[in-house]
Amino acid sequence: MLDADFFRRWMTATAASVDREAQRLTELDSPIGDADHGSNLQRGFTAVVNVLEKDAPDTPGAVLTLAGRQLISTVGGASGPLYGTLLRRTGKALGDAAEVSEDQFTDALRAGVDAVMALGGAAPGDKTMIDALVPAVDALADSFAAAATAAEEGAAATIPLQARKGRASYLGERSIGHQDPGATSSSLLIAALVEASG
Ligand code: ADP
Ligand code: MG
Ligand code: MG
Repeated sequence: MLDADFFRRWMTATAASVDREAQRLTELDSPIGDADHGSNLQRGFTAVVNVLEKDAPDTPGAVLTLAGRQLISTVGGASGPLYGTLLRRTGKALGDAAEVSEDQFTDALRAGVDAVMALGGAAPGDKTMIDALVPAVDALADSFAAAATAAEEGAAATIPLQARKGRASYLGERSIGHQDPGATSSSLLIAALVEASG
């Protein structure tokens, strides 16, 4: 079973990973974006860790909805509302239970990913965070480690794609040949599940 502490550790591990990889995320956002993805997420997840320390929500659902709200209010770029929606919708789907099973979490995260697709209009293959998140949710029934591998492979698989959503889509064919920054940060988010459970 997964409790509020697990989800707090997930957010803390994501923040640490985003800190370590911020420069790389911003470099990926340079040829096909505006070179701010690392700093956007660094600001957002630092604020998430701070508000979780201050408010100490005591259920899994409350941890994720608070984290999502914080991302929406602190990250100006496209990724803020999208990641914020992912966490908020996942948290809402978890309800107010003190502990949730891994299957319940898988279903909730799927609802979160569906909400991101509804908000941003992206489908798999559009070269966005969805290309890491959808395979991750599909593999989550096996294990967190399988989900992390699937997310990383999904992010790498965005390289040959032409972007159809977000800023990178303005480049048309010139977006081909670069890994999507948001798919890359999504693979960090999913990899942090492994750290949180370890
Ligand atoms: P901005 O493009 O506003 O500067 P970021 O650089 O923080 O925002 O985030 C860019 C990432 O957001 C992209 O790499 C992509 O993965 C993701 N993204 C952008 N638009 C969409 C969308 N409509 N649906 C899903 N993901 C998107
Ligand atoms: Mg950007
Ligand atoms: Mg920007």
